[in-house]
Amino acid sequence: MIQRVLIANRGEIAVRIMQTLRELGMSSVALMTDEEAGLPHTIYADLVVSLGTGTLRETYLNQEKIIEIARQTKADAIHPGYGLLSENAEFARKVETAGLIFIGPKSASIQAMGDKIESKERCRRLGIPLIPGLEAEGLSEEKLLSESQKIGPPVLIKASAGGGGKGMRIVEDSGSFKERFVEALGEARREAKAAFGDDRVLVEKYIQNPRHVEIQVFGDQHGNHVHLFERECSIQRRYQKIIEESPSPVMTDALRTKMTEAALKICRDINYVGAGTIEFIVSEKGEFFFLEMNTRLQVEHPVTEWVTGLDLVAWQILVAQGGSLPLKQSEIIQRGHAIEVRLCAEDPDNAFLPCIGTIYKVAHRNLGPGQRLDTGYHEGNSVSVNFDSLLGKLSVYAPTRDHCIKRMRQALKDVCFLGVKNNRDYLARILRHPAFAQGKTFTSFVQTFAKDLQAEALSPEEEALMLALPALASELSVGGDKKGQNADKIPDVFELVRSKLG
Ligand code: ADP
Repeated sequence: MIQRVLIANRGEIAVRIMQTLRELGMSSVALMTDEEAGLPHTIYADLVVSLGTGTLRETYLNQEKIIEIARQTKADAIHPGYGLLSENAEFARKVETAGLIFIGPKSASIQAMGDKIESKERCRRLGIPLIPGLEAEGLSEEKLLSESQKIGPPVLIKASAGGGGKGMRIVEDSGSFKERFVEALGEARREAKAAFGDDRVLVEKYIQNPRHVEIQVFGDQHGNHVHLFERECSIQRRYQKIIEESPSPVMTDALRTKMTEAALKICRDINYVGAGTIEFIVSEKGEFFFLEMNTRLQVEHPVTEWVTGLDLVAWQILVAQGGSLPLKQSEIIQRGHAIEVRLCAEDPDNAFLPCIGTIYKVAHRNLGPGQRLDTGYHEGNSVSVNFDSLLGKLSVYAPTRDHCIKRMRQALKDVCFLGVKNNRDYLARILRHPAFAQGKTFTSFVQTFAKDLQAEALSPEEEALMLALPALASELSVGGDKKGQNADKIPDVFELVRSKLG
């Protein structure tokens, strides 16, 4: 039985995993870099070990060092969270070889599904609907070009090892298709090489205005597989999700049956163990196509936890140590509606460029019924360029979608990370948009409604107050002598923020 788990991750997901470990009576070992002292995941853990300083490769991606720390701290298992080493088959194998439990799928499953070319070939054999395109090893520029001309523009060039939208390029319909294709291919290959050390690509028909709908699946070591319904993640910027919900507004019983059956067929084929997500694109006509499989816990797992009432991390731990899935398919119920927004340190008015700085105030008043905030930051923490821009995930649950949107709009007014520019008000504008309210969500939503989603200009008074914020922050001097002296000024800031949200 697992007694102690090392979490090979950081931020909100490390804290999230620790919460379940506590409930299960297991202890946690957290990792940190020297500059991360004081972040919640380093405080909340039972034990914390520093990886020193250096690049990601030298710290959170340093496989040997992490396994050595697990040994030294007598951890029996490693939970990789998401991102970082979570979909690294080599790491999973090394953890297994070291005699530790990897809280994730078998390394062979990661290998089989982690690569877009290989996983699409497998799905083709299984008869799962695929986006028209070409995916095979070692394709020449000529072959990729001729196939793209056959499919017809617009086409999407994708990195086989891709993730986070990196290495993707759309080539639109235009007179100079050939030159533009060759140029985009070069860019995609270069970006893929830099990000993943692998420049293989595939080409696909670019589906116009699709939805992103994914199925949460689970398998145990006894050959049982279930699904935990769908999440729709169509609201994206730069091919990355910012709002997720369950159920999907487009879902019908018939479509759900077909999509969940396709997802389970894939799981059975690879004898999948653990939590996984099968991602699909749903076209305007309601056809669905396999996109990829993520062999790990997903960032947006809270919406599934809300609508099923289950703890996905607890299920991961249970099946990793050989337990059977706790529920049969018929016992897993999808009830009510849940929405999650990703609060990110980024500038929606400037191409969503990541922002950094020190958070001097994290406020969420009191979270009300059906509201949850997963965050990896406290007041006084710094957001650095070394990690992703996620400040926190706010998720809400309500009996109906309309109620859920209303609840999220309210919850967003009460949550803020002052000191670092972020997308909170932008998310609120999406939530207020009539198309969102009508469930007309599709992956190019933010581009299509870019004008409607623009921030209103600030009045001169508001501008002045915004400019005064940093000074006010230092006067409030988080943790310093004068702490609290100007606390009465905070409500003014709140009111300004509230008035902006309407
Ligand atoms: P990554 O692994 O980089 O996240 P995915 O294949 O999961 O890449 O795709 C990410 C997003 O890109 C999808 O959610 C969707 O918005 C868009 N996308 C991917 N493939 C297509 C396609 N063929 N047509 C239209 N949009 C696509």
